[in-house]
Amino acid sequence: MRQKITGFHLDGEGHWVADLECGHRQHVRHDPPWMVRPWVLTEEGRRSRLGVELDCKRCDEAGLAVAEAVREALKTAAQRAYEEGGLSGLCAEGRWDLALDALGTTDLLPVIHRALAPGPRGDAE
Ligand SMILES: [Zn+2]
Repeated sequence: MRQKITGFHLDGEGHWVADLECGHRQHVRHDPPWMVRPWVLTEEGRRSRLGVELDCKRCDEAGLAVAEAVREALKTAAQRAYEEGGLSGLCAEGRWDLALDALGTTDLLPVIHRALAPGPRGDAE
């Protein structure tokens, strides 16, 4: 996901880190010949990059984690409703209706909160 640079700071080892509008951070090292970003070494250069967008892999990971958790929760809810409809003696169409209702009424907020909770991966710089 593209996110704008809102500022810069130095990490503990003296490497420049871009602060992104999403709250995540990303190293923007000048380390030739591997990484060539001479602009990061001057305040003027860094200022000229404010508002420039970087790909934030952390945001992509968070979005995918939420999508996977929501998919799993909806699948479980639909399967459970379908099974319960069968136990109640509903026909296939009635069971299908119950399953579709379950998709619309499942409370997704707790699922999203769990998916976005800080994990063992920790925070990036
Ligand atoms: Zn981000």
